[in-house]
Amino acid sequence: MLKNTIGILCVLVAFASQIVFADAKDMSKEIDAATAKIMPKVVKWRRHFHQNPELSNREFKTAKMVADHMRGLGFEVKEGIAKTGVVGILKGAMPGPTIGLRADMDALPVKERVNIPFASKVIADYQGQKVPVMHACGHDTHIAMLMGTAEVLAGMKDKIKGTVVFIYQPAEEGPPEGERGGAELMVEEGVMTTPKIDAIFGIHINSQTEIGTIRYKKGATMASSDWFKIKIKGKQAHGSAPWAGVDPIVTATQIIGGLQTIVSRQSRLTTAPVVITVGKINAGVRENIIPETLEMAGTIRTLDSDMQKDVHRRIRHTVKTIAESAGATATVEIDTKTLVTYNTPELVEKMLPSLEKVVGKDRLIESEWTTGAEDFSYFGTKAPSFYFFVGGMPKGKNPMEAAGHHTPDFYLDDSRLDVGVKAFANIVFDYSD
Ligand SMILES: [Zn+2]
Ligand SMILES: [Zn+2]
Repeated sequence: MLKNTIGILCVLVAFASQIVFADAKDMSKEIDAATAKIMPKVVKWRRHFHQNPELSNREFKTAKMVADHMRGLGFEVKEGIAKTGVVGILKGAMPGPTIGLRADMDALPVKERVNIPFASKVIADYQGQKVPVMHACGHDTHIAMLMGTAEVLAGMKDKIKGTVVFIYQPAEEGPPEGERGGAELMVEEGVMTTPKIDAIFGIHINSQTEIGTIRYKKGATMASSDWFKIKIKGKQAHGSAPWAGVDPIVTATQIIGGLQTIVSRQSRLTTAPVVITVGKINAGVRENIIPETLEMAGTIRTLDSDMQKDVHRRIRHTVKTIAESAGATATVEIDTKTLVTYNTPELVEKMLPSLEKVVGKDRLIESEWTTGAEDFSYFGTKAPSFYFFVGGMPKGKNPMEAAGHHTPDFYLDDSRLDVGVKAFANIVFDYSD
C-alpha cells in the first residue's frame, strides 16, 4: 500500500512538474510573440529619447513620458521620486513576490559625432555652462526596453503572480555639483521598501558587445567608485632656493608614487583588483616660484567592500606620513559615489535559464568583472540583485574598434532591443514560479 502510494505520488509530482515546466515554456513563447508586436514602438521610443536627451536630475520630459505611458497601461504611478524619478506598480492577478526592474534615464554632456538621422542636437545648461547633450551611455535604450517590458507584462497581467515595480531612475551618471540624486536617494525615499521589493534586476547595454548577446558575472560585477581630493600645504619660496621653502609639487610626486604602491605592494590583488587614478593636479603660477599649495583629485575603484575600506585607510595614512616627511601638511577627502555592484550568486543561478531562453546558451557569456561603476549597487543593499549586460554592437564588428561609452562616436545598433524586453519579462515569470 505504502509502495503504491509512493508510486502514485511520484507520478503526481512528475505530472505537476511537467505542468510547471510546460507553463514556463509557454510563457517564453507568449513573451516572444508579444515582444515581436511591440518592437517597432520600442525602437521608436529609443530614437525619440536619443534625439531628446536630458542631463542628470533634469530628466523632466523623459519622466513625464514614462509616467504617462504607465498610467495608460493602468499602473499605479508615483512621480518626483529623487527629483525626477518615476515608479510604476503593476499588480498581477495572483499573489506572489514583488520584483523590481530598473532603467536609468539620464544623458551626458557629450557632443554627438555619429551620423544618424536621430542624432542629438540638444544644448543644455550644465554647471553654469552651455553644453551639447548626448545619450552617450545608452540609457535611451534602457528606458525604451523597460517601457517595452511594461507593455508586454501589462498584456499578461492575468498570468502574473505577484507585483512588478518599474523603476525609472534619474542621475545615474551623478547629480550636478551641490545636488543629490540617483539610486541612493531613490532608496532613501523608500523605493525598495514601499512596496517591499524581494529581488531587483537591472540591464546595461554595451557598445562593445555584439547584439543578441548577454554578459553577466556572479558576485562582484562592477566596482565601487570613490572620488578623492588631496590638498598639500607647503611653504612658498623662490624657485632658485628650494631649501628656503617646502615644495608641494615634489611632495605630490612622492604621494602619487605612494598611492600606486598601495595598489601594487599593499593590496591583496588575488582577492580583487584595485585601481587608484590621479586625474587632476593644480598648482603653481610661474616657472620660478615654488607654490605654497597643491590640490589633486582622483578616483578609487575596488571590487570588494572590505578592500574599499582598507584602501581608504591606507590612502589617508600614506598621504599624511609622506607630507610629514617633507615638512608639509596634507588633507584627504574621500567621497563614495557608488558601492560594489554585487550579483547575488543564488539569484544569478536561478535566473540564468531565463536568460538562456532569450539568447541561447552560446550567447549567454560569463564575463570578467569591470572597474566601471554603477549606482544600481545601492538597490542591491536592500534586496538580492542581478545586473547584466545586453549587446548593442553591430554584428561582426571588432569590439576594439567600436567606440566606448561616454565618447562622441558612441553608437548602438538598436535592432535587438527585444533581448532586454524578453529578459526582463521572462525573469518576472520565472522568478515567481
Ligand atoms: Zn555612463
Ligand atoms: Zn550607463
